[in-house]
Amino acid sequence: NVRVRFAPSPTGHLHIGGLRTAFFNYLFAKKYGGDFILRIEDTDRTRFVDDAQDQIYSSLNFYNLLPDEGPREGGKFGPYEQSKRLEIYRNAAYRLIDSGHAYRCFCSENRLDLLRKTAEKRGEIPKYDRKCANLSSRDAVKMEQNGEKFVIRFKLDKQNVQFHDEVFGSVNQFIDESDPVLLKSDGFPTYHLANVIDDRKMEISHVIRGMEWLSSTGKHTILYKAFNWTPPKFVHLSLIMRSATKKLSKRDKDAFVSYYSEQLGALPEAVLNLMIRNGAGIRNFDAEHFYSLDEMIEQFDLSLLGRRNLLLDSDVLQKYSRMAFQKSDFKELYPRIIDILNKKSNYSTSREDIQKIVTFLKAKEENFGFLSSLSTEFSWFFTRPQSSQLLKESHPNVDLRNILNSLLEIEVFNSESLEYLAKNHQLNLAKAMGIVRISLIGSKKGPPISELVEFFGMTECHRRIRIMQE
Ligand code: GLU
Repeated sequence: NVRVRFAPSPTGHLHIGGLRTAFFNYLFAKKYGGDFILRIEDTDRTRFVDDAQDQIYSSLNFYNLLPDEGPREGGKFGPYEQSKRLEIYRNAAYRLIDSGHAYRCFCSENRLDLLRKTAEKRGEIPKYDRKCANLSSRDAVKMEQNGEKFVIRFKLDKQNVQFHDEVFGSVNQFIDESDPVLLKSDGFPTYHLANVIDDRKMEISHVIRGMEWLSSTGKHTILYKAFNWTPPKFVHLSLIMRSATKKLSKRDKDAFVSYYSEQLGALPEAVLNLMIRNGAGIRNFDAEHFYSLDEMIEQFDLSLLGRRNLLLDSDVLQKYSRMAFQKSDFKELYPRIIDILNKKSNYSTSREDIQKIVTFLKAKEENFGFLSSLSTEFSWFFTRPQSSQLLKESHPNVDLRNILNSLLEIEVFNSESLEYLAKNHQLNLAKAMGIVRISLIGSKKGPPISELVEFFGMTECHRRIRIMQE
């Protein structure tokens, strides 16, 4: 029975790597008719961000990766926010005390600080000296009853640990660390404890997560053993990189999911197509094919997940965005277009007009992919040029007044009528076309005049030319 989880910490904007983790969990769950669980790992209260959970949901929603169980969906393994499961972690930590795997530590911050500093002075890696591991359990219980503050630490002996990862194969880790805190003095668990317990209690079959967690997995393996539990299968995903040697930085705007939907206006399936590249789990992967989510599910194969990192290549994204736009029907596109127009501009347009625009783009603009260009390169769909400034600047030695007057007398702009106009005003044809284009769309570059005429109709063309006369 396949049960997988996406377990983000609500610490701010969802990272693009987080989206990929969610996505692969989702693919795997759907492929095997399993369950996809959303668990919010919110035990680090110092890094908690208020609306982060809303953002996580809106990203999952945007990409169509909604969970089967989670804080909003509910489910029989809930609650799905760790801050609501404190009792469970506490009980588990006490169980480890009872079995001799953990102990209460009453050491003060001051003492720990001192230990740290002494070690550092000697050039050693700081390590807790296990003073409290030597307390008798009678004493420890008494101190607890007296209300003394303590944490619960795991007795992590120096050791070699081995585990299997579905992507990285057999992994050996040498562990030589301080006894980690499992439960803090405020009753909140640390990541390792809560993560292991929840994966067990939620009956997670496969832990699919980013490679940055591989280094924790040895410790988790030891924890599972201490509880006498069989660990789930581990699947660590390679990283998303800027280039072969360069990591994504948290300062890069495209490191976050919101950039793609809100700034770029990339269609969701285009981003997902980018993520299955580089040997990422798709049988008979074809880089020229645009995969629908259903196809990705159908062809997903965990055993094909590679160790190669994924490159965040904007040209590839552009390519998939073009394909996505061509493939999407109007019903899917409409709400996304409205969304991006609301975010990036103050244009308001009727549904019919947007339909017309989409039809135009699909037929005439094969490079169109990112919806955000509706508010930049293609803003002329929605607004008339504001002034004749660009026209005047780019045609300083021409009698524009006369030409514009003649243009208003032409019933249809086509090559004959414009050629005639050009000749009359001693212009070459290209220049005449240029004047018309700038007048219509406020830009030197754009579609052929014939297409603009077809799109606008001559009445609108004349109206725009009249603005140039002002
Ligand atoms: N809360 C961890 C994170 O933010 C989860 C890691 C895991 O999946 O085990 O990524």
